[in-house]
Amino acid sequence: MVNFFSLSSCSDGNSFVLYKNPEELILIDAGITLKKTKNLLESKSLSIENVKSIVITHFHKDHYMGLDKILKNFPNINLYFNDNYTGHFADYPFKRHFTFENPFNICDFNFFPFQIDHDMLNSGFIIDYNGSKIGFLSDMGRFDDRLTPFLKDIKLLVIESNHSKEGLHNSKYSDDLKERILSEKGHLSNDDTVKVIEKVYNSNIKYIFLHHLSKRTNSLELVQTEVVSRFSFPETKFVISPYNSPSETITI
Ligand SMILES: [Zn+2]
Ligand SMILES: [Zn+2]
Repeated sequence: MVNFFSLSSCSDGNSFVLYKNPEELILIDAGITLKKTKNLLESKSLSIENVKSIVITHFHKDHYMGLDKILKNFPNINLYFNDNYTGHFADYPFKRHFTFENPFNICDFNFFPFQIDHDMLNSGFIIDYNGSKIGFLSDMGRFDDRLTPFLKDIKLLVIESNHSKEGLHNSKYSDDLKERILSEKGHLSNDDTVKVIEKVYNSNIKYIFLHHLSKRTNSLELVQTEVVSRFSFPETKFVISPYNSPSETITI
C-alpha cells in the first residue's frame, strides 16, 4: 500500500508526502518552512525525523523554500534533483542527480522522471511501488501528448488546477504576469485540467488529486464547479488539495 498527501499546495508553498511505511518518508518538494513541515507532519502523526529523501521538481521558490533549513537540521536526508540544477544544490552533502527518462529508486519506489512544460525546467514522475502507480505532475503550461502513454496504468493522477480563467482575468495581477500564467510555459487553468483529464482518463485511475490552486485566482469551490462537477466517474474519487493545510491521505 502506498500513501500520498500534500502538506501544503498553492503559489506560496508546495510539499507532498509519499510513503509505504511511516518510518521512511519521501517529500516531493520542500516549499514550506522547516517549522511548518515539522508541525504539519505531526498533525498527520508523522515525524520529520523519518524523512529519508526529498525530491525537488524545479527551482521555483514555492517548491524549495524550506529546503536549506530542513537539510541543515537533518543532514542525512538524501536530496534528488535534475542534473540541470547541480549548481543550485552544490553545498548539500547527500545529493543524487537524475536525468529525464532514466529511472531511479528511493526506498523501493521506482521513479521515472520526465520533463513537463513550464518556464523553468520541471520534472514530472511516474512513481511505482509493486504496481501501485502514481502520475505526478506539478506546474505545467501545457500538457504534452507525448506523456499520455506514461500515464496509462496509474491508479492516482496528481495534477495542478492552478487558476480559474475568469478569476485570473478579474485579478489585480499585472498584464505581464497574466500572460505568463496563461502561456504554454505557465500553469494549467481549471479548463485546461479538464481537457487533460478527458485525454488521459481510464478506469484504472482511482483518485484524481488536484493541487497548486492559486489563492488569488482560484478556490476549492471553483475547482469543484469548473473541474470536478464536469465528470461522473463511478470508480474514481477527486481530492482537492487545500492551500496551506494537509490534504486527506490517499492510499492505493
Ligand atoms: Zn513553477
Ligand atoms: Zn509552483
